[in-house]
Amino acid sequence: MNVSVRMAGLAAAVISAVGLAATPASAAPFPELTLPFAAGQQVYSAGVHSDDGSTGVKNAIDFSPADGTVRAPLAGTVRLQHCAGGDWVTLDHPGGWRTGYYHLEGIRVTDGEQVEAGAVLGSTGNALPCGGSSTGAHVHFTLWTLPDAAAGDWDGVAFARLSTTVAAALGEPIDGKTLGAWRFAAGSEQYSGTATHVAEGVVVQLPGRFRASR
Ligand SMILES: [Zn+2]
Repeated sequence: MNVSVRMAGLAAAVISAVGLAATPASAAPFPELTLPFAAGQQVYSAGVHSDDGSTGVKNAIDFSPADGTVRAPLAGTVRLQHCAGGDWVTLDHPGGWRTGYYHLEGIRVTDGEQVEAGAVLGSTGNALPCGGSSTGAHVHFTLWTLPDAAAGDWDGVAFARLSTTVAAALGEPIDGKTLGAWRFAAGSEQYSGTATHVAEGVVVQLPGRFRASR
């Protein structure tokens, strides 16, 4: 296969993943993630919501850890997604999973960098590199499945498109997912739900505060 044919194949893969509501990828079982910040501190979460906060799969949750430092919840490969207003961070994890970190300021990682769990990605903030909105420094943490690397080039993709077309094709619900000691559930409304401490059975209504632990 020559280079131009390979490139055409890549382009088609990008179009099928980003442009269409593709058949959901059969990703490996959801991996063991920590919360995307250090344990032992108070965290405010605005709750579980869809990527655009309005409709579609609820694949996002907002976190504001007290120390304002966002960390990798699992080892992965950094993909910096570039937009006119700056960059934002995604991490690709083994098994075809991607996590996203929107609104970060002071990004501390570089494109293609391999990071371990706990690596500092940046600080919670109000950055809007590709559009969207933010009221109060936080990280908009998002889950996706990623069928292949080509489907994950979101350079220049506006947040309006990412949060609708891409979310419909690749978004993975937060509901039922465990991050560290806490399992999250979506509520019927946007920006709602619960955080349940799995070992202790404590249930926190969201929006709300809880103490981060691994
Ligand atoms: Zn959000």
